[in-house]
Parts: sequence; structure tokens; C-alpha cells
Amino acid sequence: MKRIKAIYPGSFDPPTNGHLDLIERGSQIFDELVVAILRNPEKSPLFSLADRRKMLEAMTAGFDNVSVDTFDGLTVDYALKVEARAILRGIRAISDYEYELQMALMNRKLQPGLETVFMMPAEKYSYLSSRLVREVAQLGGSVECLVPEIVVQKLREKIDVAHKFEKSGKLAGKPSSGGKSKSKRSKNNRDKR
Ligand code: ADP
Repeated sequence: MKRIKAIYPGSFDPPTNGHLDLIERGSQIFDELVVAILRNPEKSPLFSLADRRKMLEAMTAGFDNVSVDTFDGLTVDYALKVEARAILRGIRAISDYEYELQMALMNRKLQPGLETVFMMPAEKYSYLSSRLVREVAQLGGSVECLVPEIVVQKLREKIDVAHKFEKSGKLAGKPSSGGKSKSKRSKNNRDKR
């Protein structure tokens, strides 16, 4: 019987319980699953590639058939390189559907032999996204039910460093970027919605 290897590509900035739910489901239907972190030069992520890899490796340590890797370039080229036959993606709500469909059809055009498989997370994760986690954490909210413990710790470290940096700027008499970046951020958020 043919063994089926799949990749689960994404930004994972940071990985959430929703991602983990999907990894668990994927690991049950595929023989092998590679969680593939995309290095996207157009995005400036909160976490470095190395940090995201560390978090995902810790989160998936209990799954025998799951590994973590990083890639850049086209997802289909990476899938071909690692001899995967399927791309796993998550669909949370109708809002994901249009973008995911476009991408799946484009990937099929580029590489007809490769299938995209969509899975839905448990209902309780259907509102969860990395962007929301970043925003809630940066504004001081609790993310403990949204991400694994290792991610809670890494988020705390990041935010502490950012606060220290901001404070030292204030002490040195430099204008704080706090107010400015906050209003810029809320404008960006409005634009996204
Ligand atoms: P990308 O930038 O590629 O969308 P993400 O890390 O945001 O990277 O998402 C990777 C994949 O995981 C996407 O298919 C996304 O729909 C899915 N995903 C993200 N969050 C969840 C969640 N809470 N439940 C299920 N799937 C999710």
C-alpha cells in the first residue's frame, strides 16, 4: 500500500491550539505529516523562523509521524521536493473559503498531481487565528486557553522585551513610539476588518 505524506504549510506566527487541532487530525489520516513554516520575505513576523520552529517542535513532540520544517518559494515546489502528495489546510469559516479555494486551484494548476485537503478544527477553535493571539497578547489579555504553554511563555518574553525597550526609550528622553504605534495598529486593524 502507498504511504501518503502531506505537508501542512503556514506562517504559524505564533502556532495556536487551532493549528495543533489540525495537526492532530492530519496525523490521524496521513501516514506522515510535515508542518512546513513558510519564510515569507514580504511579512515581518513577530517570531523568528527559529522560534516558530522550536515552538512547533515542542508542540508536536508527542506525534510519531509529524515533523517540522521550514521552506521558501512555492508551496508546490516544496511539496514535490519532500515527495508529499497532499497539502493540508484549515478552514475555519466561510471567510477562509474564498482565499483557500483560490490558492488550492492555483496550486492544482501548477502541480496537478498534488491534492489540497481541507479540514475543520473543533468548533471552539473556529474563531482562533495567530493575528488575534498576537493582538490580545500585545494588549495585555490572557491567551492561555488559545495557545500551548510554550507559546504563552514565548509571547510573555517577547512582550516583556518590547516593554523594556519602550521604557528605556522614555528614560533616555526619546519620544515613546507607544501612542503612535497603537493608533497606527488600530487603524491597520480597522482596515483589515
Ligand atoms: P497562512 O499565512 O498560510 O494563512 P497560518 O499560520 O495563519 O498561515 O495558517 C496556516 C493554515 O492553518 C491555514 O490553512 C489556516 O486556515 C489554518 N488555520 C489557522 N488557524 C486555524 C484554526 N484556528 N483552526 C483551523 N485551521 C487554522
